[in-house]
Amino acid sequence: MVDLLGGAGQLDCTWNFIQDMPIKPGISVLGAMLGACKIHKNVELGEKAADKLFELDPNEGGLVELRKEVHTFYSRSTNHPQSKRIYAFLETLGDETKAAGYVPHTNSIHDVEEDVKEQLLGSHSERLAIAFELLNTSPGMTLHIRKNLRVCVDCHDATKYISLVTGREIIVRDLRRFPHFKNGNCSCGYYW
Ligand SMILES: [Zn+2]
Ligand SMILES: [Zn+2]
Repeated sequence: MVDLLGGAGQLDCTWNFIQDMPIKPGISVLGAMLGACKIHKNVELGEKAADKLFELDPNEGGLVELRKEVHTFYSRSTNHPQSKRIYAFLETLGDETKAAGYVPHTNSIHDVEEDVKEQLLGSHSERLAIAFELLNTSPGMTLHIRKNLRVCVDCHDATKYISLVTGREIIVRDLRRFPHFKNGNCSCGYYW
């Protein structure tokens, strides 16, 4: 229903429908609403949907705040207790995503060798967070990442491929945007 109404550009109508729903809207409904808002460039309703999405009870919505703890990652950091596992897993993910078509945006970095560039990009904080959540959640659970800076174009692309090869939905909230990754696509419609 939300897909249908939102798809036709009837966003106000869809939003009213969501608010009148007898049950609390979950991730899929709000995610669809958010996707429609992006497509039709309705920032106001998009923000409302995004806020609702973040208010969801973690247990109901499948948001992954592990055992009520917030895990924070810094780019290239190795001080998390699971660091070894996380970096090893990122390497596997790197191979799988490249096999699926991901090409690292190494031209954003200069003066170092190609493999070093890939390592630098591949250890951005959101990559570490995604790997950590994949390792610590059950198959099928949606990943939920917050970032206090803008997600770079390479992480954006990598996350699309990670959603494809792992079959997980990944929701990232950064400073400016709120992309929702699923099956190799992103709710922003590739604009980054
Ligand atoms: Zn990045
Ligand atoms: Zn996107």
